[in-house]
Amino acid sequence: MNAISPITAASDTAPLRDFVTRLAELIDISRHQHEVLATGSALLARLIARDDWLPAAFAVPSPERYQQYLLHCDSRERFSVVSFVWGPGQATPVHDHRVWGLVGVLRGAERVQRYVRLEDGAVVPAGDAVLLEAGKVEAVGPDIGDIHRVANGRDDGPSVSIHVYGGNIGVVERATYATDGTPKRFISGYANTVLPNIWDRS
Ligand code: FE
Repeated sequence: MNAISPITAASDTAPLRDFVTRLAELIDISRHQHEVLATGSALLARLIARDDWLPAAFAVPSPERYQQYLLHCDSRERFSVVSFVWGPGQATPVHDHRVWGLVGVLRGAERVQRYVRLEDGAVVPAGDAVLLEAGKVEAVGPDIGDIHRVANGRDDGPSVSIHVYGGNIGVVERATYATDGTPKRFISGYANTVLPNIWDRS
């Protein structure tokens, strides 16, 4: 009998490596944030146009709450890339980011409701909720609308989205908002302690 254990198929993470390399170059040469958002959106759209590169460990839902897995953080913490994994019915609280963000749906769908903070402090919905299907990209940030609530857009299974932020989002001090607009200090952290190895080219 053959004693050699079967080779576990690993994801080819080259698309993620290519994405973070190009995004770092883009940030190097961009003079304005809108350039990063415009070209970064196109890069993210290309990344999520295929669904064969995300290692399975970073797409595992939890029955407790949505999961935020760090996939990559720039060595100078200029940006981070995470996978959000939503079980059925799971949603974030209403929250802000304090840095620019790009939201791309890899699997399933994500329901996004934007909010605005009025001068009296109230936080109210801005427009209707939008259902982002796989392949779609949306931007958030202090200059373009920074408060939203995100939920799984599917009732019958998990959804996975890839988010990119203009900082190490897990350590950014930001806020969630109660229905009356009261902010609450929020530092998200990450669900994982190890990262995908995107650098092995063997
Ligand atoms: Fe968000």
